[in-house]
Amino acid sequence: MAEVGLALPGSLTVGAYRCGKANCHCRADPPQLHGPYALWTRKIDNKTVTRRLTDDELSAYEPLFENAKRLRALMAELQDLTLELLDREAPHAPAGSAVKAASSAEGEKTSTSRRRRQSG
Ligand SMILES: [Zn+2]
Repeated sequence: MAEVGLALPGSLTVGAYRCGKANCHCRADPPQLHGPYALWTRKIDNKTVTRRLTDDELSAYEPLFENAKRLRALMAELQDLTLELLDREAPHAPAGSAVKAASSAEGEKTSTSRRRRQSG
């Protein structure tokens, strides 16, 4: 993990954009778009938030987005590998529902006795 380093969430896009002004040169014919800008898009509390990065920020952050991308790829690989291993070990017991039910009943028992002990 130390080799991978820091990682930023979201995605980085670099491109030219139109602004909201009607009389701007970015809406002329031919259009002169603004940018190119580096935009950092990510989700915060289920809302998509876009932030413009300065040139300095872009050069500083770009490797961190690459790291995040690499981590995501590694994670996907690891999850695939884990599923494969589980499949190989228990090919006919996928969800293990019987084991789950037994352990949750056990948990209930211990939690009630714990609660009784605390109140008394
Ligand atoms: Zn404009």
